Amino acid sequence: MLRQRTIRRPVHAIGIGVHSGEKVRVTLRPAEVNSGVRFYRSDLGAAEPIMARANRVTDTTLSTTIGNGQHEVATVEHLMSALWGLGIDNLRVDLQGSEIPILDGSAAPFVYLIQSAGIEEQNQARQFIRITKTIEVRQGDAWARLKPFNGFKASYNFVADHPVYNRYPKRASINFANRSYVEEVSRARSFGLVSELDTAQAFNKCLGSSLHNAVGIDEFSILNEEGLRYEDEFAKHKLLDAIGDLYLLGTTVIGEFEGYKSGHGLNNRLALELLKRQEAWDYVGTGAGDESLWTQDVRPLAGALSA
Ligand SMILES: [Zn+2]
Repeated sequence: MLRQRTIRRPVHAIGIGVHSGEKVRVTLRPAEVNSGVRFYRSDLGAAEPIMARANRVTDTTLSTTIGNGQHEVATVEHLMSALWGLGIDNLRVDLQGSEIPILDGSAAPFVYLIQSAGIEEQNQARQFIRITKTIEVRQGDAWARLKPFNGFKASYNFVADHPVYNRYPKRASINFANRSYVEEVSRARSFGLVSELDTAQAFNKCLGSSLHNAVGIDEFSILNEEGLRYEDEFAKHKLLDAIGDLYLLGTTVIGEFEGYKSGHGLNNRLALELLKRQEAWDYVGTGAGDESLWTQDVRPLAGALSA
């Protein structure tokens, strides 16, 4: 059986919000079983949590924002992705600002933070959402779907005709039963064309964007001196985002995700469509013999220690 998980002790990080440009402090704290991931705007003294749930999404322009009708928290997807990767179910997130800090633009700093805090298995079984029928959402020629699969697999097709993008693989496909989220996905950074930055900034987005937190691309080249972290870093970052957006379902999916030109908006619509179509999935726990359902980085801790 896989148990629910939280972290052992509080940890914090300070960084800037990529869209607001503001300096923010985020503190992750242990939380009790069945409480899920909850965000608190402690800068506002807010007692009401913002639940990390797909039906709490209020904006998907360039990042995913959630709210509770009173307050909002922006850019939750990379933290949510890291939580999925390490199998964290329950967490309290205190935020001194309106946006989760972007740090290096990937999920790796959150992975590091959670690993530094230590992971604690709790005395309650984890529930999964098992996809039993294909669910698909479309917008123009872009689409995203979830289909039955015994484990978790994710594929993404990135489509952009640009001299830089054309030099790298535009597709990433990972079966997490035998490949590691931490090693192969978590380090993929956000990216964007410098030529589109002015437009985004005119809408008060990307105000904190820099080569410290994104891969910047001009007409012909990558501007970051260090180059790419993976050859398929662009497609992998889109997978990282989709994993984080889907983790707003409140639990891990057993199934296969496929995205074609999709982004935060379609990821959220896919999650909402799934919640609506209750005949297309069921809740299950995992028991002995279900090892195929454990992702590479999320195996029972005792088992990991004795291995
Ligand atoms: Zn992202």
